[in-house]
Amino acid sequence: MFGDFIKSIQKWSDAHSQSAAIHLLSAVEPVFPATPPEFPHVIKGFLETILPPQGIACFLQRPYQFHQLQSLLTGLGSYIIEKSIRDVLDESLVSLLSLSERERLTALLYSLEIMRDQWIDGRIHSLIISNPVEAISRLTRDLSLENDWKCAEFLSRCGYGYPHSSHACICWERYSGSVSSQTSWFDWLDLLASEKNEHENAFQLDRYLDVVFNPVFSDFIDTLCVDQNSCRICPLIESCKTYRSSFSPEYKIECLNDIKTGDIKEIPSSSLLTLLSGDLWFDTPSQNKFIAKYPDISASDFQDIDSANDEAFLSFLLATKELTARNFDTEGPLSGKSFTCAGDIYKSFGQFIREEQQESFYTLILDNKHRIIKNRLITRGTLNQSLVHPREVFAAAIQLRSAALVLIHNHPSGDPSPSEQDMAITSRLQEVGELVGIKVLDHIIVGRQGYFSFVDEDLM
Ligand code: SF4
Repeated sequence: MFGDFIKSIQKWSDAHSQSAAIHLLSAVEPVFPATPPEFPHVIKGFLETILPPQGIACFLQRPYQFHQLQSLLTGLGSYIIEKSIRDVLDESLVSLLSLSERERLTALLYSLEIMRDQWIDGRIHSLIISNPVEAISRLTRDLSLENDWKCAEFLSRCGYGYPHSSHACICWERYSGSVSSQTSWFDWLDLLASEKNEHENAFQLDRYLDVVFNPVFSDFIDTLCVDQNSCRICPLIESCKTYRSSFSPEYKIECLNDIKTGDIKEIPSSSLLTLLSGDLWFDTPSQNKFIAKYPDISASDFQDIDSANDEAFLSFLLATKELTARNFDTEGPLSGKSFTCAGDIYKSFGQFIREEQQESFYTLILDNKHRIIKNRLITRGTLNQSLVHPREVFAAAIQLRSAALVLIHNHPSGDPSPSEQDMAITSRLQEVGELVGIKVLDHIIVGRQGYFSFVDEDLM
């Protein structure tokens, strides 16, 4: 399959009016230099790799400030402490970044500084030359880098010919339908080697794919797979699994039909969200990340993005999450409905809270005929007795002159069995309920596949 992927791209590139530009841009000589790179060069490569996009953007405006930072860091010398690095960063444009970001950069630069002697005396160079693949694992770990892709990118910036086209890999993942951003650098190397079994040829193939897929080159050529718009000119459109399962008009029609025929539950949540988001969905790595962790998203996620498309998409997801929560935590459509057993309650409410990534504790407030007056979110996060306080649980129930309550919460682990904490919370709330004359009818714990009812298990 990888072979077909490469062949289709090569065919497209050869027939493409900009094929000369593609070949020119990818015609770089892969090298593993004979001597170790100078340490200032290593610092430069490291900074370029670890700076977040907004940091790179600041330095692009003022390149001399980047050189200044590079020489200050180089001049720190041996025996430095983290504080010296922090001071240098705070005097540079990096000070514009958030505190957590500055701390992350300080820690990473400190990991590099600890290895300064090994870079200078050539021990790291020898490791790379003698065992280039093992060197990636070791340096990823010793430099505390995010992943092996980052390490390959860093070493390439230092002049070592390592393949590192993460953009081409993302395209391959979309084409083959695998989960986004899961392919390790080692798997990518294996794929390249399956096509070109020499290391240097693998590097050339990677550089070529990088030009075709990296948005950095989009000023010169039509780069592919950058966003949904590039599907229109993509030579892989016929066989691309992601296109077929999320972008193609046929897939959208299929989803709409499922909705019409009542099979809406068959549609995965990710497809529902992309369907609803319409033109905001561009299948970027950030958008995929937010979809994967939905509904565990918050406004703080805006910090990690720098594109208007991703911002708009995250805003949409947050609005959807809020709306869903309001539907549950209000006098929603189930208001007035009465329930006779835990199974009925689970059928109506389980779906609302089953998918929540954090433990969420709700009450169903009932009248004297056990009809729902209101649903209320009491707390979200790891439950303990102080968070599920009787005051919070009974306040609205007393105000609404209710006759009874049902407690309901989820276990994100998927296992609905009650913990000791759950037992203690239940008996305390039951006691308070007796005192205030509002009966606690049941406590239902929702898991991934089912539920636990204190009443059904004779615990209440
Ligand atoms: S069809 Fe679209 S999603 Fe698929 S590889 Fe091409 S550009 Fe990427």
